[in-house]
Amino acid sequence: MNMRSHTQISPLAVLRTYFGYDSFRGHQEEIIQHLMTGGDALVLMPTGGGKSICYQIPAVIRNGVGIVISPLIALMQDQVDAVRQLGIRAEFLNSTLSPREARTVELKMVSGEIDLMYVAPERLLTTDFQQLLKKTQLALFAIDEAHCVSQWGHDFRPEYLQLSILSDRFPHIPRIALTATADLATRREIIEKLKLEDARQFISSFDRPNIYYRVELKDNEKAQLLEFIQTEHPGDSGIVYCLSRKRVEATAKWLSEKGLTALPYHAGMEQGLRLMHQRRFLQEERVIMVATIAFGMGIDKPDVRFVAHLDLPKTLESYYQETGRAGRDGERADAWMVYSLADVVALRQILDVSEGNEQFKRIQQQKMQAMLGFCETARCRRQVLLGYFGEDLSKSCGFCDTCNGKMETWDGTVVAQKALSCIYRTGQRFGAAYLTDVLLGKEDERILRYGHDRISTFGVGKELSESEWKSVFRQLVAAGLLSVDIEGKGGFSLAPSSRPVLRGEQRFELRKDPVPAKKRRSSIRE
Ligand code: ADP
Ligand code: ZN
Repeated sequence: MNMRSHTQISPLAVLRTYFGYDSFRGHQEEIIQHLMTGGDALVLMPTGGGKSICYQIPAVIRNGVGIVISPLIALMQDQVDAVRQLGIRAEFLNSTLSPREARTVELKMVSGEIDLMYVAPERLLTTDFQQLLKKTQLALFAIDEAHCVSQWGHDFRPEYLQLSILSDRFPHIPRIALTATADLATRREIIEKLKLEDARQFISSFDRPNIYYRVELKDNEKAQLLEFIQTEHPGDSGIVYCLSRKRVEATAKWLSEKGLTALPYHAGMEQGLRLMHQRRFLQEERVIMVATIAFGMGIDKPDVRFVAHLDLPKTLESYYQETGRAGRDGERADAWMVYSLADVVALRQILDVSEGNEQFKRIQQQKMQAMLGFCETARCRRQVLLGYFGEDLSKSCGFCDTCNGKMETWDGTVVAQKALSCIYRTGQRFGAAYLTDVLLGKEDERILRYGHDRISTFGVGKELSESEWKSVFRQLVAAGLLSVDIEGKGGFSLAPSSRPVLRGEQRFELRKDPVPAKKRRSSIRE
């Protein structure tokens, strides 16, 4: 295709002719217009939202080559094949090409014979490639998976930090950074590290209305998983996430023995086999991928009908990313998870032995706490999930397990008031463990030293156990009534929304800890 002779062709015409879609979604058109006029952009859009078109269309229309920087070497071939099928001239450059193949691609780039060039960051940063870029007419730079600059995230790629040189060396070439990671801290890091202070920000809603969220208490996880798949998703494609390689292997084997097509995927596997499993999952139907978090970034399979978690993800960001791989075609999909308190303990242990300084661990711990809050909430799961990313959903969604009323709750207003006033009276700087001790009236040395045995909330919470108080605090955090001090030691302070509860103007529903199905059955028999 040669679009250069039709300089006036509109983005909509390209969308219709080459992509075969009728209209743009969300901010797509605005983003494209902004790039066409030379502006920089930061695009936050959920997985499946349609980020690629935002740089593909301007790269096709603008003179010159669009450079797409992506960390996903394993997927570049597939990405390029997909755009080529649309009639767009695309190539990729990474370590899987021979020097000779790479040379051919580079020549095509310099002579302007391609529209899109996918390149790994380490390749882009080489002196050779930088020389070539100087000789090439460039349409734009697209920095995909831009959250890889974030040192706090688990996708951190050191080379991404050096991508700031693009703004110094090519100040007149528009840059677009794209990510599906929504939280504010990551966004700030992207802007700073990639020098995108002047970029316009396009932030989409992260709601995925076709995903049904549900969390069940772990009882017999294998049987629960099998029943879920057999009764609700027979013959569907899906992903099952586990935390360890060993569990991935064991679960895949077990599902296979039950007659399902289940393939393992984790970073410890031989690369050829891993790629083969990935291909099979993408190309065949009814394949269940049993994987660690190593699987999924950049995977574009529209008809994944369920994502199951046998282990708790470490953070809500991960949970959101992983579940977001379901239902990209917009049809109903399930995000199903089982958890137990043992999971929480396991996560803590992983965290304790992990590398990283105290601040890093503390931040991870708080993120875990939010994950837990999500599991334990009595509120609409979608509201809690989106609330974590700063998005306010005014109404409960009606499309999650808590909305569908399977959660038993009790009036926890008085209990919440005790917790809140205990936080207030101890100076809004302590965490759950200390506050629980005060509420239970423990005369420990620290409490005596601070004089907290003399405040009115000392010992007023004896009706609940220690673990019940922990659950209360988690639910208060999850409901947004408490703010957690991220920089400091993880102390709680009162959020403005706690006032109506404290004053008795608003009820606070607490969730009962769910009883495992087995226990329920046996207690009925008794
Ligand atoms: P992301 O990179 O944000 O996860 P993609 O760019 O892969 O999402 O797009 C997700 C899916 O949505 C793809 O199958 C894509 O072709 C499709 N898509 C993108 N834009 C539109 C649109 N305007 N209309 C219909 N489908 C679209
Ligand atoms: Zn809901």
